[in-house]
Amino acid sequence: MLAIRTLEGLLVTSILGVLSYRRKLVDESGVIAGVFVGTSVIAFGGWEMFILLAIFHFVAGFFTHYKYEAKAAKGVAEFKGGARSWQNVLANGLVPTLTAVAEYLHGGNTMTLAFVGAVGASLSDTLSNEIGVLNPTPPRLITSLRRRVPPGYPGGVSPLGTFTAFAAPLSLGMVAYWLGVIPRSIPAAISVGLAGAVGSLVDSLIGATLQGVYICSVCGKFTEKRYHCGKPARLHRGYEAVNNHVVNLLMSTTGAAAAIAIWGLLNF
Ligand SMILES: [Zn+2]
Repeated sequence: MLAIRTLEGLLVTSILGVLSYRRKLVDESGVIAGVFVGTSVIAFGGWEMFILLAIFHFVAGFFTHYKYEAKAAKGVAEFKGGARSWQNVLANGLVPTLTAVAEYLHGGNTMTLAFVGAVGASLSDTLSNEIGVLNPTPPRLITSLRRRVPPGYPGGVSPLGTFTAFAAPLSLGMVAYWLGVIPRSIPAAISVGLAGAVGSLVDSLIGATLQGVYICSVCGKFTEKRYHCGKPARLHRGYEAVNNHVVNLLMSTTGAAAAIAIWGLLNF
């Protein structure tokens, strides 16, 4: 069974990988990482869990490209036309992979809740960033809401982004409920949905405090990247080690843990 599902997984994720590469959702390294993550989830977690991961992948890809020109003009678009690399795929896919394997080994549905919490956090984070930067007014810093920051600044929050941060994972929770991935109860759907929003919130908090933020020596814009406009950027605040991928991994882990915690509290 595991061997057959692994083969089916390799076939399906390779096809989706080529499609994603052509649509510039991922680069070459991202395809390989994606095939690994997707095949693991299909083999150990099953098709329903994979559908949730695929929803994140394609919806996040769609909104990364949505109004790309407007984002590029604001200087907040993802690089390389929005194609994600292996680091990005693993930062968002490692926790889903591990929870799918853990559910396979132990059963009991706790790890499927954690899985949906993690994927929900990634969806919440990506969509709130990609849609939030289109908010008509500049965001405010989550740790001091009186302070306005430029769009795309780590830790910046806006009404549109915050609404998306809750709406996206709650919608994914409803799909998970409908697919029967999580226990068929509304509280379970709300648990995983809120967990995704909590993960995204933690992402913003770390973004506003520990994450390394740089100033481009060419264009003068704030960036999460060490290189901007083809030149090394100067560290403005935070820690170099806490880059966007590390923050995403922490966010994903938080989403998983929060799903178990909220579900546990509701059933206490
Ligand atoms: Zn620059």
